[in-house]
Amino acid sequence: MIALEGIHKVYRNGALEVQALKPTNLIVEKGDYVAIIGPSGSGKSTLMNILGCLDIPSGGTYKLDHQEVQSLTEKELAKVRNKKIGFVFQNFNLLARQTVQSNVELPMLYGGVTTPVRKDRAISLLEKVGLGGRVHHRPTELSGGQKQRVAIARALTMNPSILLADEPTGNLDQKSSHEIMALFTQLNNEGSTVIVITHEMDIAEHAKRILRFGDGEIIEDRRKGSVRL
Ligand code: ADP
Ligand code: ADP
Repeated sequence: MIALEGIHKVYRNGALEVQALKPTNLIVEKGDYVAIIGPSGSGKSTLMNILGCLDIPSGGTYKLDHQEVQSLTEKELAKVRNKKIGFVFQNFNLLARQTVQSNVELPMLYGGVTTPVRKDRAISLLEKVGLGGRVHHRPTELSGGQKQRVAIARALTMNPSILLADEPTGNLDQKSSHEIMALFTQLNNEGSTVIVITHEMDIAEHAKRILRFGDGEIIEDRRKGSVRL
C-alpha cells in the first residue's frame, strides 16, 4: 500500500544544504505495525512528513495505494490526507477550551458530517479508546495518556487506513506510553496500518517491524521474531 522508490529530501537554507533523507526504498504493506527508531536528526520526521503527504520529497516516487502522490494537486493531496491518514503528535494538539467530544468532532465538522452522526461517532470512538466517561471533560482535566487517547480518537474520525504517529509517547510516563502502544496494537489488529516514530527501544518493541534510522537512511529493517543480522 505504501511504496517508496528512491525517495529523498534535501532542505535548502540559503547556501546551506542538508540531506535530511538519502534515497530510500520502502514498502509498508496494509496491516503492518512499524516503529521508526533512531537518534534525533536522523531523518525520521522527514520520512513521516513525506509519508503523510505533509511534505514534498526532492525526488523519487511515492505510491500510496498504487497512486503516485507526486502527480496530485495540492487539493487532491489534502483529500488523500483527510481520507486515508490519521495523524497523532507528541503534543496532542488538542483545543484546550473545547470538550473532549468537540475535539474529536472537529475533523468531521470540516469533513461536512452532520451533527448527529458527528456526535455518535465521537462518542463511540471515545468509548473505543477507553474514555467513554470523559466526553464532557476539557483536555486540562485529563492525564497525558488520556489526552493522547483523545488525539487518537480524533485521528480515527474519518476512518483512515493509516495511522502516523510522531513521538506519540514523548510526553508520557512509562506506564501511559506502554498503554498507548498497546492501543495502537489493538487498532492494528482491527485493520489499521500503524507507523510510529519513537526514540525508545522498549516502546518500539510493541511494533511488528522496526526500522532503524541513522544519518538520513534506514540502517536496519527488522521484523519482530526474526533473527537480528
Ligand atoms: P528526526 O526526526 O530523526 O529527529 P528530522 O527528519 O527532523 O530528524 O531531521 C533530519 C535532518 O534534516 C536534520 O539534520 C534536521 O536538522 C534537518 N531538517 C529537518 N527539517 C528541516 C527544515 N525544515 N529545514 C532545514 N533542515 C531541516
Ligand atoms: P498520569 O499518571 O498520566 O500522569 P495524572 O496523575 O495526571 O496521570 O492523573 C491521574 C488521574 O487524575 C487521571 O485519571 C486524570 O484524569 C485525573 N486528573 C488529572 N488532572 C486532573 C484535573 N485537573 N482535573 C480532574 N482530573 C484530573
